[in-house]
Amino acid sequence: MIEEKCLILPDCNDNNMESNVRNIAVLGSTGSIGRQTLDIIAEYPHLFKAHLLVANTSTDLLIDQARRFVPRQVIIGQDNLYPIVRDALSDLPIEVMSGHAAIADAVTAPEVDTVVTAMVGYSGLESTIAAIRAGKDIALANKETLVVAGELITQLLAQSTSHLYPVDSEHGAFYQCLVGERMSDVSKLILTASGGPFRTTPKVELSAKRACDALKHPNWSMGAKITIDSATMMNKGFEMLEAKWLFGVSHDRIEIVVHPQSIVHSMVEFCDGSVKAQLGLPDMHLPIRYALGLPGSRLSTPNFKMSLSDYSSLTFEKPDFDKFPLLDTAYRAAELGGTVPCVMNAANEIAVAAYLRDAIGFNDIYRIVESTLSHLGNVQHPTYADYVQCNNEARAYAMSLITHP
Ligand code: MG
Repeated sequence: MIEEKCLILPDCNDNNMESNVRNIAVLGSTGSIGRQTLDIIAEYPHLFKAHLLVANTSTDLLIDQARRFVPRQVIIGQDNLYPIVRDALSDLPIEVMSGHAAIADAVTAPEVDTVVTAMVGYSGLESTIAAIRAGKDIALANKETLVVAGELITQLLAQSTSHLYPVDSEHGAFYQCLVGERMSDVSKLILTASGGPFRTTPKVELSAKRACDALKHPNWSMGAKITIDSATMMNKGFEMLEAKWLFGVSHDRIEIVVHPQSIVHSMVEFCDGSVKAQLGLPDMHLPIRYALGLPGSRLSTPNFKMSLSDYSSLTFEKPDFDKFPLLDTAYRAAELGGTVPCVMNAANEIAVAAYLRDAIGFNDIYRIVESTLSHLGNVQHPTYADYVQCNNEARAYAMSLITHP
């Protein structure tokens, strides 16, 4: 059924687009994607308004953003930080709330048009499900939502009027390559990877690499968690799963290719041998701008024009599955399905957090993910409750491996 889908954008109505300001809920507004989303909202005030800003702990930046954008609502995730935000915004007509239940509730408000999900990790799942159930369009930056619960999210989208538009640069590239094409003509998706900060590091040297080494990403400026995921290439494994669910393409037809310059954001190969690629500078403003423009038109900007002559050499190579074994883990998780990807994600989140505080070494991330996967069973066709239970169990087990290695 998905194979026959023809991906054509709905008719664009420019007049509508210009007269209707879309209310945007930015979940994770103080993170890297959240801040760049607010840049785009500020760039097109006739198209977008920040309606809701949500941050977990960064009170100072959240307060600055709220004073600048004056959204209708602000939510700080951690309840104990609520008085700080409330008092700092008391002179403005902004409703301040706290706690994770408030987030899932606020995204369903009738005024909200689009929800940008830019929280880190599993924490994005509950509010994304609430937004889909309420028929909101989603600009998906929280790839873990599809990694963990792609099967459930796909079912909910089929029953909802909401659309899910990818913010991830590779998936934005797939989307642009697939517009106007029949999915049955696609032979494979070619997912490009920068290779991360350790692409040229010999395998034997990886065990000594600390988080501060991994955080020096060559091309992309990103948050700490995704930068470590890029160093282990877990991020690319996640993106393979994200593409599988977004476009209904089996994991064995998604090929990862290392492209260190990060100019080709991904490609699609068709049954006649043609390959379409989408190119652009490695700057997340571009895919965010594209996602927020959907389903209308591209958002014109004088910025970010690239000159291909600055890039005389674009290179492509096979990924090293031996050096980055989490790639293989991700393909295996995609094949097994059920709650296996949820376990993989939970163990990875715990391991990456431990690596970031120098509690474990680089190779321990893989060890913890694999040990957790072999310890927990698999639930096929999971419900939301199954994901919650599986996530909790996997976290607890992964944590025990860190405490008692
Ligand atoms: Mg990406």
